[in-house]
Amino acid sequence: MLSIFSKTAQVIAPSITKQSRCIASLSALSDTYQMLHKTCRDFAEGELKPHAAKFDKEHLYPADAIKKMGELGLMAIATPEELGGAGLDYLAYAIALEEISRGCASAGVIMSVNNSLYLGPVLGWGTDKQKKEFVTPFTTGDPIGCFALSEPGNGSDAGAASTTAKDGGDKWILNGTKCWITNGYESKATVAFATTDKSLKHKGISAFVLPKPIKGLELGKKEDKLGIRASSTCSLIFEDCEIPKENILGEPGFGFKIAMMTLDAGRIGIASQALGIAQASLDVAVEYSSKRIAFGKPIMKLQAIQSKLSDMALKIESARLLTWRAAWLKDNKKPYTKEAAMAKLAASEAATFASHQCIQVLGGMGYVSDMPAERHYRDARITEIYEGTSEIQRLVIAGQLIKEYGL
Ligand SMILES: Cc1cc2nc3c(=O)[nH]c(=O)nc-3n(C[C@H](O)[C@H](O)[C@H](O)COP(=O)(O)OP(=O)(O)OC[C@H]3O[C@@H](n4cnc5c(N)ncnc54)[C@H](O)[C@@H]3O)c2cc1C
Repeated sequence: MLSIFSKTAQVIAPSITKQSRCIASLSALSDTYQMLHKTCRDFAEGELKPHAAKFDKEHLYPADAIKKMGELGLMAIATPEELGGAGLDYLAYAIALEEISRGCASAGVIMSVNNSLYLGPVLGWGTDKQKKEFVTPFTTGDPIGCFALSEPGNGSDAGAASTTAKDGGDKWILNGTKCWITNGYESKATVAFATTDKSLKHKGISAFVLPKPIKGLELGKKEDKLGIRASSTCSLIFEDCEIPKENILGEPGFGFKIAMMTLDAGRIGIASQALGIAQASLDVAVEYSSKRIAFGKPIMKLQAIQSKLSDMALKIESARLLTWRAAWLKDNKKPYTKEAAMAKLAASEAATFASHQCIQVLGGMGYVSDMPAERHYRDARITEIYEGTSEIQRLVIAGQLIKEYGL
């Protein structure tokens, strides 16, 4: 789908608007990425930004926008073209997801979960048959998929999964509760993790892919969240849920590894979502401070305000470079666990910092829903929690450092 970019980019690239200029590093990338960036920017400006406050207020799943994103190839960016995807790479994914999230952070997480947490493991470990059933239809924006790892008793400690998958001869029988599942309500399939041998602890966890709805799987209540309120989050409750034996992903006992490798890639997505929220906060702060007059001049002329804007820009640009570097390493088949954790940590902290500072720059106007600053502040917070909290990212980085030093 998006391969049209490579063909037309040379013609269109020279007309890329000044909008891209504030992402300085973009100019170093090829025309294909710049073209993709412009397409996503235009889409977010036209189809997401004007409606994001309503989606948020009414907890409205943005079905039409997600379908259009599917038509643009954004719901399966790094999925090969022969399976229905855009056939691009993770750098393209990072660029696109930042722009989508700049328009609407909820659309950003819906896109992120479908691309990296759902399609990622099926592409990585699925059989041809599984890919036909669980990848190709899920490249279009309708249906979408989800990823069920967390449980009420274990989030950070994902290896302590208590959901079980019992060997029932020609089937697996799943029992247990998964919680906090993004896209849980709308999704028509899930990648789910359950232990096939509790005695082996995390080495007994296996990964499965299964359709939804399915007998024996109930949805729990929709969570009422602080932010990303247009994306659904709910529990998945398995009670003697029978799935065919062939629905396992990879070998039995390989599930924890699949989950960890999937999350490495997912963190590039969440870093990009965080960058979008951070950049949107900077955009609002710059625009408002250029117009708001205090003591006879725009507040942007005050050094205290300039200092906030420059700190925001510095954190955003450094986190963006870390994110693109992690994506580049993944695209070039190099180890990227540490770099993805660094990117997610830096970008999510940049998002909470920038959205906090944005409210300060706007003063009272930052605190009310007439302006998007308070939504960015609420949306930013989750990026430090899901797909590994900031504390867990620091543990991952330290673990990799210890390995690098041979200790
Ligand atoms: C809106 C939302 C959407 C989500 N979407 C999904 C999804 O689609 N799929 C899915 O599987 N999960 C999802 N999650 C779950 C999310 O990944 C977990 O909430 C997260 O991993 C943290 O787990 P926890 O909430 O159990 O916190 P806990 O693990 O109980 O952690 C509580 C606190 O203790 C700290 N802590 C824990 N262990 C350590 C340690 N070893 N060292 C230092 N500090 C530590 C944590 O950093 C945190 O500050 C979602 C969560 C939310 C809120």
